[in-house]
Amino acid sequence: MKPAILVLGSVNRDLIVHAPRLPQPGETLRGQRFGSCLGGKGANQAVAAARLGAAVALAARIGQQENGAAMVASLRAEGVDVSAVLQPADETPGVALIVVGAEDGENQIVTVAGSNGRVSVEQVDALELDGVQWLVLQQELPLPVIERALERARQSGVRSLLNAAPFREEGRALLPRVDVLVVNETEAEAFLRAPLADPIQAARALRALGPLAVLLTLGSEGAVWVDGQQQLRVSARKVQAVDTVGAGDTLVGALVTALSEGQSLEVALQFSQAAAAWAVSHPGVQDAMPRRAELDAWME
Ligand code: ADP
Repeated sequence: MKPAILVLGSVNRDLIVHAPRLPQPGETLRGQRFGSCLGGKGANQAVAAARLGAAVALAARIGQQENGAAMVASLRAEGVDVSAVLQPADETPGVALIVVGAEDGENQIVTVAGSNGRVSVEQVDALELDGVQWLVLQQELPLPVIERALERARQSGVRSLLNAAPFREEGRALLPRVDVLVVNETEAEAFLRAPLADPIQAARALRALGPLAVLLTLGSEGAVWVDGQQQLRVSARKVQAVDTVGAGDTLVGALVTALSEGQSLEVALQFSQAAAAWAVSHPGVQDAMPRRAELDAWME
């Protein structure tokens, strides 16, 4: 199946330790648990879409050192097309070192870009966009790469979605090239340089920065959508939140899945809210992403 969705983004190995609390500078703590898993916003969003049945490809760079080959294999096992993943033998993949404190669930994260930092404009120029409906981007890759990808999408009639996470001030210059901008409240405030008051007004103000449409996500309050014709508000599903990390990634993967199936905007927004609510009610990031059959059954 030709991929309808192409995610261009980061892939990390997440190294997670659970400690009684976060350490002070210079302090050594005894942790309780260690785990490692596949992460990075590009990988997360591609896996979210694949689990929901989308034909999705990931364009990324994953060095083969430090188990990089196994990371590629696990993406493939999820059903993600990895033919546009470059795998240099002598590079180390991106890594995120995460400490979770048991007291309050607060975390500390340090990332090292590794191969993600070497994704190039040339790689973007070589991407096959034939048959692609949606190009999905985040802000963990070098900015010129994202910029070139947006440019190619516009030239090729491919719709683009930029999830402006993590926030980068330089990302502002990208907005006029974006079809759909997805941001959470923190990112929205950073772009608007003001605290959020009315979400619809905020989404409109974000749209004035250049994107054709804005989806502003509001955590347990759901989300608002604003484009040239309409403004919509969708409620979040009521769930017991267990772990909200990765909610936004699940939402993005689900949204483009539904839109690439030709679902109406209203249905796609409801579907993405349900997928994200499922993710927050389960532990982990990719571990918490629903499969299509279980999500459909849950939504009935
Ligand atoms: P991010 O995860 O990117 O910080 P948000 O916190 O806005 O973004 O959450 C994204 C989406 O996840 C929301 O639009 C909503 O669908 C879902 N979500 C987040 N928190 C909850 C919650 N407590 N209950 C239900 N859904 C939630």
